[in-house]
This record gives sequence, structure tokens and C-alpha cells, in this order.
Amino acid sequence: MKINFYNSLTNQQEEFQSIQDGIVKMYSCGPTVYDFAHIGNFRSFLFGDLMRRFLELAGYDVQHVMNITDVGHMVEGEDDKMLAAATRVKENKKSGRVPEGAIADPDDPYQIADYYTKAFLDDANKLGYKVAAEYPDSMPRATDHIDGMIKMIERLIERGHAYVSSDGVVYYSVESFPEYGKLSGNSLDKLIDGAGQRVSADNQQRKKHPADFLLWKPDRQHIMKWDSPWGVGYPGWHIECSVMANAKLGRDVIDIHTGGEDLIFPHHECEIAQSCGCSGESQFANYWVHARFLFVEGKKMSKSRGNFFTARDVFEGKVTGKPVHPAVLRFELIKSHYRSNMNFTKKGLSDSASTVMKLIELRQDLESRSDGKVAEVDLGHPVLKDFAEALADDLNIAGALGVMHTWIKSDHGDAALSLAIWDKMNSVLAIAPTGTNDDPAESAGSGGDDEGEALRLEMVAARENKDYARSDELRDKLIAAGYDVQIGKTDVTIKKKLA
Ligand code: AMP
Ligand code: ZN
Repeated sequence: MKINFYNSLTNQQEEFQSIQDGIVKMYSCGPTVYDFAHIGNFRSFLFGDLMRRFLELAGYDVQHVMNITDVGHMVEGEDDKMLAAATRVKENKKSGRVPEGAIADPDDPYQIADYYTKAFLDDANKLGYKVAAEYPDSMPRATDHIDGMIKMIERLIERGHAYVSSDGVVYYSVESFPEYGKLSGNSLDKLIDGAGQRVSADNQQRKKHPADFLLWKPDRQHIMKWDSPWGVGYPGWHIECSVMANAKLGRDVIDIHTGGEDLIFPHHECEIAQSCGCSGESQFANYWVHARFLFVEGKKMSKSRGNFFTARDVFEGKVTGKPVHPAVLRFELIKSHYRSNMNFTKKGLSDSASTVMKLIELRQDLESRSDGKVAEVDLGHPVLKDFAEALADDLNIAGALGVMHTWIKSDHGDAALSLAIWDKMNSVLAIAPTGTNDDPAESAGSGGDDEGEALRLEMVAARENKDYARSDELRDKLIAAGYDVQIGKTDVTIKKKLA
């Protein structure tokens, strides 16, 4: 199958060719663990997951690595994010988002990072993010790779790509790497005049070029610090990804690198300069693939607008007034193309809930008719072939979901075969069950929880007694509690809605 992705390096769609036959080495920039991950973060992460799962469907063995930034995103001229986090933790404790007993010392960055790493893994696992289920192997933490960062910086100095400035700070020399700017299209002259780029004005006089970026900053007072040949201090932000990609994927050149569009410059540009500067190779990753940003109801997500949502806000019903099953949020976040800005809406979420329900109901029906048998099926089957070919076209998810919707409506006479098709599609969509993602059918299935079941039984009894006024009252209560209520001749069935 011919697979195309849009490569930000060349600004065009390119046919995907892995370096080694059948193996894909893929790296995604991960979360900074100083707060709960928001739905925009997960949009970017789940696009990487969709890509990985599709490549697996296409037969590749995908080695996917994603870092955890627990050092604090250190960029010159910006406040350290871990420091800012201490203030936020105190706010989150006040509002109850972080339980009182957690993060005993909010000024301890390790406790903050640990707490939010666990919270991230918890959310990510619920959302079926495969790499999170492989923690810690595939999700290295920056603080565990400080030695590797020091070694890479030493090598960059040896190779003439880095220097120690008069005040002891280690910088990467962008002029030593003529290809600096090849990913973002930023030429060095544009960077000199600032041109709206994030080149720090701070310390410019001590740098050889204003765009030179921080590799190591000696600072004994800093909240997180390590010993190094350049004194006690901390690493710059970009170096961690170059080091961990290499350490975990075991190669100087990898196949795919992903992230959100905001990371193209400076972060990914700097990763390329570091990795290629160190290895002498002409590429760090052959395909750089970026997801566009998520908006909420057409607007940029921001705390001041009140439209800033974490994944757990959505799960807990803080966004829609009702709890949302993680599978529904996952489906909502993956269903629009990664190269369009995604617009997160309540309406979209409820459409996703009904699609997920349809899929679950179909599976339940197939299971009940298949006597526990699941047939063998591969991408040679016409439905799966169309599904995979749509995804092979730069992850055309709308096309793939179109194939799926047509298939849902088709005849499913051969239940064992349909189950096998369902499972293959679900290996990419991962709405249920995905190992750690609990089964949405449990909360969406034919029954309700204890409270719903009590109301349902009372309603059946009221109908038997022909007390229709009471029956209507109970039906309204069930609806208000988030159930779909079906009244049959002799029975009442309820289903918990997913959103
Ligand atoms: P951070 O934890 O801030 O480093 O971000 C983690 C990932 O989320 C990065 O790949 C960002 O590009 C991505 N990201 C941040 N905000 C958004 C957004 N609103 N929409 C999509 N991706 C985002
Ligand atoms: Zn990165």
C-alpha cells in the first residue's frame, strides 16, 4: 500500500518509506508535566497515536517514543515553568482539582512532576493512547537523561557547534549549522531582525548570534539543578528530545517525528540542529508531521475566555454538564484531519457519542450472534482495503470514517466476519476495549447503574399499575440522569448516554 504523509520539511505530501523494511521509528514531543493536559494537547498526541495505529494496521512494527518534560521547558527569557507550576498547584489545591493530600510540598518540583505525570498517564490511558500503556519504557523522563544531555553538549562543543560564552553559559551556534531554518523556513537574517520570532533579546551581547540557543545554564540557585562540566545548573529545553529520541530509538536518523504546529519553531528546528550537528547526518527525522491547533467553539482556548478544558474536565462533566466517556472524547479528538484546525464543540461531542454508541451496539449484536467466533480477515477485504487506503492518503480520517459508516449500515449476515472487521477498524479507532481504556459498553450498555435500575423497576411497576403520570415522572428523572429510555409493550429499557 502506498502511504503518503504531509512532510513539514518539504511542505508537501510525500510517499512514506521507512528506513528499515517493516519497522518505523517514531518520536513525539510529549507533555510538560506542570499541569493537567488539556484537550488541545491530546489532540496533538492522539493524532500521533492514530498515525502509529494506522502504520501498525498497514503491517509495520512501530517503535513509538514520547518524552515527559519534567525539567521545566527551560528557554532563556521565559520563566521556568516548574516555578510557575508551584503557584498553580496552590490554586488547584484551593479549587479542589488537586486533592489536599497530594503534592505535600508544592514548592518541590519533583513532587509536582510526579503528580502530573501520573495524572497524564491516567488520562492518556483512558483515551487509548498506546504509548502511555508502554510507560516507562517508551516514555522517558527528561530528568533521567541529564547525563545523556551533558554528553551530547560535550560532543557539540567538540564538533564546533556549541560554545561557552563569556558568562559560562553554553549555547548552540546556529551559524555553525547552515541548514538551520530548513524546517521552519526562517532564515538567519530574518531571525536577526526579530521578525516576530521567539528569539530572546536577553544575553544577546554574549552570544555569537542572537538566534543561538541555550544548551546549559549554570545556576546554583535554580529550583532544579545538576552537576556538569560547566558548573551546577540546568539544560536548555530542546536538548532533551534529541537525546531521548537517540537513546530510546537507538538511531541517529529516525523515520517520523510529530508534534503540534507550534513546535516547528524554535523547538524542532533546534532539535534538528542538535541531532544532525552531533551525528553528522543530513537528517534527524525523514518525516516531520505536525498537527494544527484545536479551538473551542471557534475560539482559541484560553483560561481568560473560560474555554480552557482539561481532558478530565470533559470526563467529569464539567464541560457538558454530564460525564463523558473517554472513548467519546477520543473519537471527537481524532475525527477531524490533523492538518485542519479542529473545532471542539458540544454538538461535535454529542455526535461522537452517538457514533460510538452505534459501534458498541453493533459489536454487542455481532457478539451475540457469532457464538464466540471471530473470523480471520486482512486488508484484502474490500471494506478494510477502502478504510486503510483512505488513511494511507495523509491520514484522511473523514474518508475512513465514511467507509465505516457505510459498513455499519450494511448487512452483517456473517457475524464472525463482521466482528473481525470491527476489531481491525477498532485497532485504529481504539474506542473499545483497548486494554487500559475501559469498555464504554459498560457505561453505555443495556442496563443502568443501581440508581437507574431502581428508577427503571419502579417505572415498570407504575406502568403495570397503569399509573402513567408516575411513569412519566420516572421517565423524566431517568432522562435527567442521562439515560435514553425506551418504552416497550411489557418492559422498559434504559441506556446510559455516553455524553
Ligand atoms: P506542552 O505540554 O505545552 O509542551 O504541549 C504538548 C503538546 O500539545 C505539543 O505538541 C503542543 O504542540 C500541543 N498543543 C498545545 N496546545 C495545543 C492546542 N490548542 N491544540 C493542539 N495542540 C496543542
Ligand atoms: Zn521535542
